[in-house]
Amino acid sequence: MIGDQYFRSQITDHRSHFVAEMSIENRERLELNRHIAQLLKCRRCPGMKSTPVSGGAIKSDIMIIGQAPGPREPVLQRPFAHTAGKTLFRWFEEFCGMNEAAVRSKIYFAAVCRCFPGKNSSGTDRVPAPDEIRNCSSWMDDEIGILRPRLIIPVGRLAIMQFIDCAKSAGEAVSFPYRLESLIGHKFRAKRAGYRFDLIPLPHPSGASPWHKILPGRELTERALKLIARHAATRELKVNLESTNPGILMQD
Ligand code: SF4
Repeated sequence: MIGDQYFRSQITDHRSHFVAEMSIENRERLELNRHIAQLLKCRRCPGMKSTPVSGGAIKSDIMIIGQAPGPREPVLQRPFAHTAGKTLFRWFEEFCGMNEAAVRSKIYFAAVCRCFPGKNSSGTDRVPAPDEIRNCSSWMDDEIGILRPRLIIPVGRLAIMQFIDCAKSAGEAVSFPYRLESLIGHKFRAKRAGYRFDLIPLPHPSGASPWHKILPGRELTERALKLIARHAATRELKVNLESTNPGILMQD
C-alpha cells in the first residue's frame, strides 16, 4: 500500500515537473484545448436551438467576435460558414491579403453567444436574450484571459456593445440606437476581463443590413479594414503565416 502511494506520488511529481517545464506557448495551447472541450459541452441556455459552435483552438493575438451562429453554422461546425462569412472573408482577402483558410488558421473566432438562438416570429434569427448573453460571457472572458489578445474585432452591433459604451463613444445621450458612423472606421482602447487591447469594430456583413454597402458605411468599413491590415498584430501574423506556409498569402 505504502509502495503504491509512493509510486503514485512519484507520477504526480513527474507530471507537475513536466507541466512546469512546458513552454508558456504549449501551456496556453493546452489551456485553450481544455477550454474548447468544456465550451462544446455547455448547455446552460435552454432556449438555444443548437449546441455550441467553435472555430477551434487557434492560439492568436487577434480575436474576431461574432454575434451568434445562424442555422448553418452548427451543421457545418464552424463560425461564419454561410453568407455573412463569404463577405467577411472577402473583406480580409481584399484588405489584409489573407484568404479564408489563412484567417481561420490564424485568428481565434469567438461570439457573443455560441449557440444558434433560433428564429423569431418574423422568420429572422432571434437576437439572444440578456440572460443568454450573460451566460455566455464567461466563455469569452476566459478566452481573453488565455489568449491576452492585442486586437479584438467585434463584428456587428451586438458584439460591439459587449466592449464599449456605444452611446458614449458615439456622443449620444441615449444608449440605443447609436450611430455606427461613430464607431466603424475607428480604433478604440478597450478593457475586459482585466486585460487591455485594441478594438477595431466592423459592421455585420450579413445581407440583412445594407449599411456597409452604401455611403458613408462603405467608406467607413474600408477605413476599418485598413486599420486592421495596418495593425501590428495583423502584420506579425502575416509574417508568421508566410514563414510557416509559403505562398498562402495573397499578393498585396
Ligand atoms: S449560448 Fe453560450 S452559455 Fe448558452 S448554452 Fe450556448 S455556449 Fe452555453
